[in-house]
Amino acid sequence: MKNLLCIIGFHSWKGCTCIHCPATRDTGHDWDGCKCIHCPVTRDSEHDWVGCKCNRCSKTRTTDNPQDHNWDGCVCIKCYSRRNQDHDWNGCLCRRCSARRDQDHDWEDVTPAFGYVDSTDFQTAYEAASRPREYRCSQCGETKQTPGYEPWRYE
Ligand SMILES: [Zn+2]
Ligand SMILES: [Zn+2]
Ligand SMILES: [Zn+2]
Ligand SMILES: [Zn+2]
Ligand SMILES: [Zn+2]
Ligand SMILES: [Zn+2]
Repeated sequence: MKNLLCIIGFHSWKGCTCIHCPATRDTGHDWDGCKCIHCPVTRDSEHDWVGCKCNRCSKTRTTDNPQDHNWDGCVCIKCYSRRNQDHDWNGCLCRRCSARRDQDHDWEDVTPAFGYVDSTDFQTAYEAASRPREYRCSQCGETKQTPGYEPWRYE
């Protein structure tokens, strides 16, 4: 049976918990590091840091020391921090993070169609063949243009 005083709001506080019911209050905690030993409350001090993560609560910290993280490739498996090395490259994109690099693009020719070219019309056929071409990477969206074909340069 519930204590009548508790029901009307007069708990018998011992630290942060009531001795008669499961009620807790946010004062009088009994801290063991960052955690109260009587209730689920944690505080943001005296964490038990093991590398980048607290051993007692789920708090993670930013640390400039790469040794503090548990790297699996470019991502820390504890706090999901990222580093710019050991990426798992799939073409120009990393499979694990949003990193991209300027190599191994998957270029697609997206040059706008020139339209019908009558091969006897030398001038138009030449223009179609020599115009700059546009390429777009299907993975990262990077675009590039190749210069037009200018045969007179090589004569
Ligand atoms: Zn109570
Ligand atoms: Zn407490
Ligand atoms: Zn902690
Ligand atoms: Zn980490
Ligand atoms: Zn990566
Ligand atoms: Zn790309």
